[in-house]
Amino acid sequence: MDRKLYKVPFTHEKSPDWLCPHCGKGVLRFIDGTFRHEERRHSREDRDHDAWDPDWIEYSYSGMLRCSNDQCKECVANAGVGGVDLDVIFGHDGEPEQGWADFFRPKYFEPPLAIIDLPDECPVSVTEPLEESFRLVFSSPASASNNVRIALESLLTELGIKRFVVKNGKRQFLNLHARIGLLPAKYSDLRDLLFAIKWLGNAGSHADSVVTLDDVMDAYELVDHVLQELYAQRFKKAKDLAKLVNKKKGPKG
Ligand SMILES: [Zn+2]
Repeated sequence: MDRKLYKVPFTHEKSPDWLCPHCGKGVLRFIDGTFRHEERRHSREDRDHDAWDPDWIEYSYSGMLRCSNDQCKECVANAGVGGVDLDVIFGHDGEPEQGWADFFRPKYFEPPLAIIDLPDECPVSVTEPLEESFRLVFSSPASASNNVRIALESLLTELGIKRFVVKNGKRQFLNLHARIGLLPAKYSDLRDLLFAIKWLGNAGSHADSVVTLDDVMDAYELVDHVLQELYAQRFKKAKDLAKLVNKKKGPKG
């Protein structure tokens, strides 16, 4: 996962190589003439201030992206915020000089970007909350984090981990921590990863803690590893082959 793609502000002339969420091969580019930015009202009013500087400017922007893969051409609507910052620009004489440039940060993509690869074999009960998380992550990292937690609960259910115990004839729901602890020994190497994802998700469910885009990206990286381990066929095939070769101590013949 290349975090720079999602974190570094971009200029209209050079948008990041966001991957197409449909084919995963082409990159998304703004369709000519669709990118539009306007200065916010309060930002216009601030221009009257004595201390005003161009870096006070705030924009809203929107644009329509299209996949560069000719076989796909998926369209993605994008919107976000922007501002002005110092950048290296090239003057009339071609020499680099410092000047003000417009920069933008995405807040929404529809359909959402596929930030990690969700294996086809992964159950819908897990992929749906993750896709919802991708939809929210740029505008509300805390909400995105909560959706990772929902995906984690679903994953445990898919792995056959019970959700409650019956005590004195009453159902007692198990918390996420207890459920991860119930994973059988064959999943022991995943347990640490799941606990770590849980901790990142905990921050998201408490109002007094701030969840950053980086926190959620950390969780995605761990989830990616877990899903590849559990569901990705190519990974399973490689592991099976490795097992066979190791057993034979040579080519499988
Ligand atoms: Zn595409």
